[in-house]
Amino acid sequence: MAAWRQLGAWILSAKRHATTISPDRSSVYSFDLEGRPLSWFENDCTYKRSLASRVHVRDRAGGRRRRWTLTGEQASERFAAVLERTAKTPRAALDEELRTRLEAILGWTPERLLEESRRFEATYEPVSILPPDQYLSVVLQATFGCSWNRCTFCSFYQNRAFRTRTPAEFRAHTEAVNDLLGRARHLRPRIFLADGNALMLSETRLRELMDIACEAFPDRPLAGFIDVFTGEKKLAAGWADLRERGLERVYVGLETGHDPLLAWINKPATTERAREFVFSLKAARVRVSVILMAGLGGRRFAEGHVRDSLDLVSRLPLEDKDIVYLSPFVLDERSAYAQRAVQEHITPLDETELQAQLETLRAGCRAAHPHVRVAPYDIREFIY
Ligand code: SF4
Repeated sequence: MAAWRQLGAWILSAKRHATTISPDRSSVYSFDLEGRPLSWFENDCTYKRSLASRVHVRDRAGGRRRRWTLTGEQASERFAAVLERTAKTPRAALDEELRTRLEAILGWTPERLLEESRRFEATYEPVSILPPDQYLSVVLQATFGCSWNRCTFCSFYQNRAFRTRTPAEFRAHTEAVNDLLGRARHLRPRIFLADGNALMLSETRLRELMDIACEAFPDRPLAGFIDVFTGEKKLAAGWADLRERGLERVYVGLETGHDPLLAWINKPATTERAREFVFSLKAARVRVSVILMAGLGGRRFAEGHVRDSLDLVSRLPLEDKDIVYLSPFVLDERSAYAQRAVQEHITPLDETELQAQLETLRAGCRAAHPHVRVAPYDIREFIY
């Protein structure tokens, strides 16, 4: 239960895992239990601070959502403004809890907040992407990069060699993460095993790493990304064993159900193998989030992509806790995909076509699985 207090126009709330301070109706600041800003709303903009103290901003202009990241100097100015305003909180009638939390918040300076980027870099290799419902997880890097790293559209792990951590390295990493998060760890109820396909590790190694993760961050379910061609190497019994040890959910990058498009993006899987893999995950009672990418393959592949993706989704044994994510394709101009699209005269979908494809996919997935959540996955909103 949150303790809260209204002092004139100010509203303060000491929630279980965060503190919110609202000086007026149009501004709300939220802080973690270490006193660091988490997010805030001001002048119709939403600001979010990553653990590395990068500040992502979102607003709406002319009916369209805009997002951008502040420079270090701009972030410092925003931190200073938040702290200056928070320092004006009327204190006379504050209880002990709120007073202590306010002191923790005002113990930070813009310089110290920016310094958090160094602590982050000492703790993590770059964290390139997470599923949208895992932004508030404890990310633990069991592996680095992706063991395949050759899908033409994907540049998350380019120029990074795939590497796995030994159990001793992983234990040291969990300690560093614990230290970085401090009391803010309580805000993070799940563990995400990164990077791109940490779940490809052998069951023996995964069990060992999962035990270390759960010891460092108890009472949290685990999740991770996996691709069809690495995930299918484990039997349903192996997934069931991992499920027993705390693996709650896996995120499967299907991208499309259209085999010619899978081949064109150099993803070594087929629709049939994807279907069999999801069946084996469901037989193991693992929750599944499948990801489809709208706009992939441009106009040339659009018809086959939509038709076969919906056909695939309709044949998956999804249940009510599973999720279908629809991710609008974002082109990286430096990718092999971009080069190939130019060479082969692939025309990208325009915004109207992309929205129409998203809507068709959304409606089709909902019709196939009325009890399954169909949710957006915009990689441009990723934050950790
Ligand atoms: S899409 Fe997945 S499998 Fe393909 S390169 Fe990227 S991380 Fe690896």
